[in-house]
Amino acid sequence: MASTTATEAATLNSFNTRARQALRDERLRDAVARSTDLLGSRRVEALSELANADELRDAAAAIRSASVSRLRSLLDEWSDNFTALGGTVHWARDAAEATGAIAEIVAASPAGPGAVVAKGKSMASEEIHLNEVLASAGADVIETDLGEFIIQLAGEAPSHIIAPALHKDRFQIADLFTADSGQAVSAEIHEEAAYARDRLRRAFLDAGVGITGVNFAVASTGSICLVENEGNGRMCSSLPSVHVAIMGMERIVADLAELDVMLNLLARSATGQALTVYTNLITGPRRDGEADGPENLHVVVLDGGRSAALHSQYSSALSCIRCGACLNVCPVYRQVGGHVYESVYSGPIGAVLTPILRPDDPSARELPEASSLCGACTEACPVQIPLHDLLLKLRLERAPESATATRRWGFRLWSLAWSLPLVRHISRVLTRLGLRCTRVLRRLPSRGWPGAWNKCRDLPRAR
Ligand code: SF4
Repeated sequence: MASTTATEAATLNSFNTRARQALRDERLRDAVARSTDLLGSRRVEALSELANADELRDAAAAIRSASVSRLRSLLDEWSDNFTALGGTVHWARDAAEATGAIAEIVAASPAGPGAVVAKGKSMASEEIHLNEVLASAGADVIETDLGEFIIQLAGEAPSHIIAPALHKDRFQIADLFTADSGQAVSAEIHEEAAYARDRLRRAFLDAGVGITGVNFAVASTGSICLVENEGNGRMCSSLPSVHVAIMGMERIVADLAELDVMLNLLARSATGQALTVYTNLITGPRRDGEADGPENLHVVVLDGGRSAALHSQYSSALSCIRCGACLNVCPVYRQVGGHVYESVYSGPIGAVLTPILRPDDPSARELPEASSLCGACTEACPVQIPLHDLLLKLRLERAPESATATRRWGFRLWSLAWSLPLVRHISRVLTRLGLRCTRVLRRLPSRGWPGAWNKCRDLPRAR
């Protein structure tokens, strides 16, 4: 029987260790609970306003599934159209190729390698650790999405797909802004917003290069679509003379009709809005006579392990539209936040995507264990990704290497015992007795752990 290695044992402990630390941080838990509750209830409300929410989800799931299954031809069609419009496509097999291509674009820009780079929110850029690479080449990279700006000041990674700083309260943000400005910034939200607005406006005006993500590419028109609420994406993509957009290769739809369906669901599932405040559809660089827009438009298409996933039993994970809805309903994420996953992608989709994209990383392979398998994520997903099935498959794949001797013997004995009618009967009697004893706890004063336990649990009756 294979036993676990020291490295593996350390890895097995690592998520649990980080989770225990997060559980002790009441401030973090309050902030995460407050934000996920809000986002979750807004999502439910926004979807309930639709007469055809279920049909829309079916349509969105079908569109994403079809896009993933004919990804190569859609990408070729989009690339031909985008290039004909005057844009440049860079195909990157991995993070090194993607960051290398972007560093070259920045270095060749009129502002040179030391350019001020105004950056919009992009999970793909987090995935490739772009900021570190550009900074080491001399660029001054400034995150302009408010949440990303906050975590950049904190030196942290995003804690949530759509709300990167949701783990911080306004007092922590005031401290960060005060340290950044050298002058006291109060914890009043309008003052914090005013500080960020002033600080970021300067970055937009100074920027020689703008970098953004891509929510969807549209194959039939060669467009890229960027949705956002702060207008910073629009500034990054239209003010600097060079715009670089980074796109995970799966983020494509066939045409504008399909885009319409996806936009209808994305904002509702993400923030509970009918539509984001800004929906930018960028179809080529600035043309003669146009008032704004970049003279040079580049899109870096990142593979980063997606091609391998495309031909695996996990291909449905590539349908993800990064709405974050599964994080908000996940009982694990809601307790510990995103940093414990040690991945750009946290929550249920992070526990699925991370080991798929980083199959050789032991810390990524343990993430599928970070789930209660309650299925709430699958229920919330607007494109019907069977997240809990994928988590189970990933666990199954890893079972031979991860099961400790105790676990193996435990399951063997359990299986043996339950195959004997007498043992089954005795265990039922003991369970009934145990449940009765536990019910006594309900009559105890609601203090300490019995009180906390009783507050949110209802024991079933044993039959
Ligand atoms: S898996 Fe589904 S719910 Fe989760 S972020 Fe992706 S699209 Fe949204």
